[in-house]
Amino acid sequence: MRIVVVDSSQVVLRVIGSLLEARGHTVHEFTESDAALRFLEATPEVRVLITSLEVRPMSGLELCWSVRLIAEDRRPLHIITMSSANSVHNLAEALDSGADDFIEKPPRAEELHARLRAAERMTRLQEELILLAETDALTGLLNRRAFRERAEAAAARLAPGGTLSAILVDIDLFKRINDAHGHDVGDAAIRAVAALLSEEGIVGRLGGEEFAIILPERDLHAALRHAEGLRVRVRTLRIPSGNDQTVGLTCSFGVSAWTAGDSVSALLKRSDIGLYAAKASGRNRVVPEMPPGGSALAG
Ligand code: GH3
Ligand code: MG
Ligand code: MG
Repeated sequence: MRIVVVDSSQVVLRVIGSLLEARGHTVHEFTESDAALRFLEATPEVRVLITSLEVRPMSGLELCWSVRLIAEDRRPLHIITMSSANSVHNLAEALDSGADDFIEKPPRAEELHARLRAAERMTRLQEELILLAETDALTGLLNRRAFRERAEAAAARLAPGGTLSAILVDIDLFKRINDAHGHDVGDAAIRAVAALLSEEGIVGRLGGEEFAIILPERDLHAALRHAEGLRVRVRTLRIPSGNDQTVGLTCSFGVSAWTAGDSVSALLKRSDIGLYAAKASGRNRVVPEMPPGGSALAG
């Protein structure tokens, strides 16, 4: 695991650091709590924070609070506080500040390792829960809610004048595939399309056989090119349907691009209008929200 250790003494840090490294952990040592916080903010791979309560400039308890705020419930992170003045008071205060565990300083090697094994079990469980909450079970893509959150986050990161685009994808006449070949073949078709779409951008399954893609830093033309590439490749998919038979399929695409003052809802709505137009004009095509100088249905 990647572990951050914070203590005002270089000597204590090295003692703990070498104990942890001996068990294969990657250790990042900090004598100052603000530097540790900045590192934790920038390094989501860290799974454990071990901090003394007596650190500066912010106290160990303040560090716990701040780290809990950045980690929220989206990030597996186990916090262990250390104090030489081990007391019930310190323990309660540490747990109330967001710590998960408390250890006496200097920690005994066996106890430290045992507590880290517990930390590993907890963070693994957290990882699984976060994954379950965010992904669609059939395809492994983001589910609708997680997709929306990632899309909103990407939009929030947009610099003024920055580009971002959206593609909505819907499998054509999918009901026929289900009806003719059965639900399992339908599921396999959904998975195959999902695997193709997942190659670039923020990709979610919005429901049934409908998907959405957000492409950060792509304008309308780049997104149209991407969608066209996907359309051509979907057409070449062959889904095994039993008895050495395969079934082919196509998708329709609606594409839109971010404009000044836009919102994710409005952006996706305009993609949806393009998708609707693609369906209405014969399916297996890519339609932009509003092609330059024409209606969405033209071309
Ligand atoms: P269109 O080209 O207009 O999109 O036609 P369509 O048949 O694809 O559209 P419609 O919305 O009528 O049908 C979607 C079907 O997808 C209906 C539903 O039974 C099926 N479906 C939804 N979720 C799943 C799933 O998880 N697995 C399978 N196999 N089918 C699903
Ligand atoms: Mg469909
Ligand atoms: Mg649909």
